[in-house]
Amino acid sequence: MQDKILVTRSSMPPYEEYIEAIKPLWETHWLTNMGQYHRELEERLKEYLGVPEVSLMVNGHMALELAIQAFDFPAGAEVITTPFTFISTTHAIVRNRLQPVFCDIKPEDGTMDETQIESLITDRTVAIVPVHVYGNVCNVEKIQEIAAKHHLKVIYDAAHAFGVKYKGQGIGNYGDVSVFSFHATKVFNTIEGGAAAFSDSGIYKKLADLKNFGIRGEELVTGIGANAKMNEFAAIMGLCNLNHISYYIEERKKRFEVYESGLAKIKGVRLLNQEKDTIRNYSYMPIVVEDEYPMSRDELYCKLKDNNIFARKYFYPLTSDQDCIRNQCKEAELKCARRISERVLTLPFYPTLGIEVINTILRFIGNV
Ligand SMILES: *Cc1c(COP(=O)(O)O)cnc(C)c1O
Repeated sequence: MQDKILVTRSSMPPYEEYIEAIKPLWETHWLTNMGQYHRELEERLKEYLGVPEVSLMVNGHMALELAIQAFDFPAGAEVITTPFTFISTTHAIVRNRLQPVFCDIKPEDGTMDETQIESLITDRTVAIVPVHVYGNVCNVEKIQEIAAKHHLKVIYDAAHAFGVKYKGQGIGNYGDVSVFSFHATKVFNTIEGGAAAFSDSGIYKKLADLKNFGIRGEELVTGIGANAKMNEFAAIMGLCNLNHISYYIEERKKRFEVYESGLAKIKGVRLLNQEKDTIRNYSYMPIVVEDEYPMSRDELYCKLKDNNIFARKYFYPLTSDQDCIRNQCKEAELKCARRISERVLTLPFYPTLGIEVINTILRFIGNV
């Protein structure tokens, strides 16, 4: 029997490297509140992501929630977004007292179908929140054009897109803000963590307030804020992991290519596409189980599970189909999103996954 294989496994630097790096904390006793390592990681990330400004947060969700809050949209205003994502994207909108308006996705890559955005715009629309799902780049040019024409803000959920480059530019340069997640399961992790990337230094100040109770001085609070600061242990984990990021992505690429060539020989399963001119990060290994495949997605999921291989149905169901969300928004057809979400399966994928395990998984998928 195959050992238990989960869909992912967190990347960690060598033990000694991390232990050495946290030692100074026992001298300074400075554990959080925008300490030395928090600031150092912001600088290193600006460089790595090739973006003008970075604000570190306690997790990706708070980065997204606060990035949306930073624009002070009026309560009840509409935000066009995708239902084919992790629930965090939709929660970040709803928790800001905004109304999600769901746009369908494209079958080729799973990102928002930009040709349908304009038909969803009303006089209450204030923003677009697209997702670079699995690191697949949205049509950023078209989205920018629509946003400019209708005076909308664009806030990208780039949780999956750490290190992705499009047309030579870091992905965080598109839109008004891009939000990354550094959760343990992501390509780059700080255990838990996240960041907003943007170019407007006004947003940096706004987020600095929102992530630290609006505190400006010992006796001065200038606004209503949350607490979403990244602590020093997390920042140091980030600094260490960043030392190894090109190795992590390189190892992912090798495994992606093994899957890719194996899957190409199996009828009825397909991979999603990438925009041209993209440097990818190989964050996930999603396949679409089409109708020509002899089993349904759910049957394949169970077959793998019976063999101790735990693939995941990312992203199913659509966030718009959860009762807590459905109650909050207009009915939408979302034909393609529904179709893909019923057929997608994300296979085990991480930098240390054994090549022989991938071949075993490919055999299970191929010998139906
Ligand atoms: C992981 C993720 C988030 C949330 O990030 P956390 O760091 O877990 O809070 C948001 N959106 C998407 C698409 C994600 O995958």
